Amino acid sequence: MTTQLTIHNTLTRTKEAFEPLDPAHVRMYVCGPTVYDFAHLGNARPVVVFDTFYRLLKRHFPKVTYARNITDVDDKILARAKERNVSIKELTVGTTKIFHEDMDQLNALRPDFEPRATDYIAQMIALTQTLIERGHAYEAEGHVLFAVETMPDYGKLSRRTRDELIAGARVEIAPYKKDPADFVLWKPAPEGGEGWDSPWGYGRPGWHLECSAMADDLLGETFDIHGGGLDLIFPHHENEIAQSSCAHCGKPPAKYWMHNGFLIVNGEKMSKSLGNFFTVHELLEEAPGEALRLSLLASHYRQPCDFTKEGLAKAKATLDKWYGALRKVQDVPLPVIPAKAGIQANSVPAAIEDALLDDLNTPLAIAHIHDLASELNRAEDADTKAKLKAGLLAAGEALGLLLQDVESWFKGAAQKGGPTDAEIEAQIAARLESRQAKNFAESDRIRDALAAQGIILQDGPTGTTWRRE
Ligand code: AMP
Ligand code: ZN
Repeated sequence: MTTQLTIHNTLTRTKEAFEPLDPAHVRMYVCGPTVYDFAHLGNARPVVVFDTFYRLLKRHFPKVTYARNITDVDDKILARAKERNVSIKELTVGTTKIFHEDMDQLNALRPDFEPRATDYIAQMIALTQTLIERGHAYEAEGHVLFAVETMPDYGKLSRRTRDELIAGARVEIAPYKKDPADFVLWKPAPEGGEGWDSPWGYGRPGWHLECSAMADDLLGETFDIHGGGLDLIFPHHENEIAQSSCAHCGKPPAKYWMHNGFLIVNGEKMSKSLGNFFTVHELLEEAPGEALRLSLLASHYRQPCDFTKEGLAKAKATLDKWYGALRKVQDVPLPVIPAKAGIQANSVPAAIEDALLDDLNTPLAIAHIHDLASELNRAEDADTKAKLKAGLLAAGEALGLLLQDVESWFKGAAQKGGPTDAEIEAQIAARLESRQAKNFAESDRIRDALAAQGIILQDGPTGTTWRRE
């Protein structure tokens, strides 16, 4: 197994060997959700991708700090709160809770820090003041703007020309701007509206400023990895680089920039504005979280990921197969693997770990897991079974999969209006009694009635097991 991690750095557009700033402590920041509504599956893609990457880092470095923010103040949040006649706090506490519940179902680990923008207003004001003092920002009509002409390599991440920068930013050509490409650090808020006092009057921060201030506060001026979706390269990340490096004497905020591709539906990006979205919440009523997660990891993170209901059903069937292989070896004890100093025990099979170390090649890792599950199905002796079982479980965990108890996977969650586990067990007991009484017509009737409700019975040497279809 190699231990060298390589990642594609958007900054250089090449795959680079990952050399942490401090090998004893790797630091990563990922832009999190704007919590005004339910997250759609596209929003879940960066969460799942960077969670898988976080899990990988944790297997190779003694300490990893992962911060992912919650944007809890923004135009969409303000509009939604007004519509519902609640404060932004009330709105975002509720939407954040739902976001957590949904992401938990996708087996995404909670980040080490989950800063809320509204808890960092003081740091945002201080950062703005530094930028003004250093001549990179100016005040105009209650706004504070970043002056892009003061940064010679502005546009380095997105590699856009000046005209493209202006067109792409869709920035308002406001009379108070010195240059149309200048962007807002602080903007005025109406009296009585949501806002904070600042040296420039009552107002609120610009979105780009929020991430710069939170990342700096939690991870330091320069950290290892900054991630997010492809759409954030410009203007969001370009502007974060401008703010942070100009405030920190040229020191860039991150060494490596990683961006996930879009989740698409019929060739178009899944988005709220196009209306072509499925929320994670609604999809979880149709499929287990692990099936959603597997369908997100089936494409390489930098490629577009095409979402279809058929693809989701296929992911569920794949997991049925993998859990099926584990079900057969439930009684086989796992071998004990010693932990390395400071790093968790790692029994991920070499081919799978190598695939993940190579710029998080999850499709290749998944192909290897298929082979592993087939091998486990064929294994005959106890040692081979134990080794393959441990490998399959570890590989699953590396991808945030196969984390459920085998039986509960097959039993699934009770569907609305469907029989509960206890009702199913009672029917199975009644069927057994009918069979013992040689009343086969009745036992068949019970089995067929359960099948009609999507409950499949399987008779085996140790009794009857069941699963939801
Ligand atoms: P938002 O809540 O819109 O700020 O987005 C949160 C995260 O989801 C950002 O990293 C976006 O880049 C990402 N994102 C939004 N839509 C998609 C999509 N269709 N596919 C992949 N990532 C997306
Ligand atoms: Zn951000």
